[in-house]
Amino acid sequence: MNMIELNEITKIYMRGAEELHILNGISLVVARGDFIAIVGPSGSGKSTMMNMIGLLDIPTSGSYSLDGVATEKMSDNQLATLRNQKIGFIFQQFNLLPRLNALENVELPMIYGGIARKERREKAHSMLEKLGMGERGHHKPSELSGGQQQRVAIARALAISPALLLADEPTGALDSKTGAEVLELMIDLNEQGNTIVLITHDSHIAECAKRVITLRDGSIISDHQVSRMIRGYEVTV
Ligand code: ADP
Ligand code: MG
Repeated sequence: MNMIELNEITKIYMRGAEELHILNGISLVVARGDFIAIVGPSGSGKSTMMNMIGLLDIPTSGSYSLDGVATEKMSDNQLATLRNQKIGFIFQQFNLLPRLNALENVELPMIYGGIARKERREKAHSMLEKLGMGERGHHKPSELSGGQQQRVAIARALAISPALLLADEPTGALDSKTGAEVLELMIDLNEQGNTIVLITHDSHIAECAKRVITLRDGSIISDHQVSRMIRGYEVTV
């Protein structure tokens, strides 16, 4: 089954009486288990497309099925439920809650998911351990480096075992060595079966994915598979 099926998606914003055509008929099918990158210059529509895929905003026209579920006719509440069940988000600025420690941050989506306290804590522990952060559970974000904070954010995104992982410029706030580690981690997660959408303005970073989709002015202008050799040799940022 496909994870993502976008069919002729458009997004039009209004500025006064003027129509701004931000996405111009995007059609895209992404298989379960794939790792795609969406790349394009600033203003090309990447974040708008991420908002559609992440069920954070709805298109002006077109249809979208996520993991076999048609979303067009859903209410805001239904969309929020589907989003919480299916999607883990990773952002450039980590978006951890500063007053919560690493464990509590990872537990948050499980609270929304109604998972009991003891199970939440155990899961959060094992997620942090998996990401090499087992010793840091009681640290607040301000006591962690950028790379460590992004690992906590990734643990949080994975805590609900999302069908789809959406990462918007996940290395944008990291130095190149730490950024490369985060990209390696995403490659590992994909090899373990996670479906990943990586958004980046950097075509070099995009080559970490298996398939690269290039956006320009709200249209897909190219869609290519990354050769294994490039994947093998150019994982560094
Ligand atoms: P990217 O992430 O590739 O930089 P965006 O999707 O953020 O691009 O934006 C694409 C275009 O849409 C930009 O020209 C931006 O100014 C415009 N845009 C984004 N959001 C809005 C909005 N809410 N209202 C009007 N224009 C918007
Ligand atoms: Mg953007």
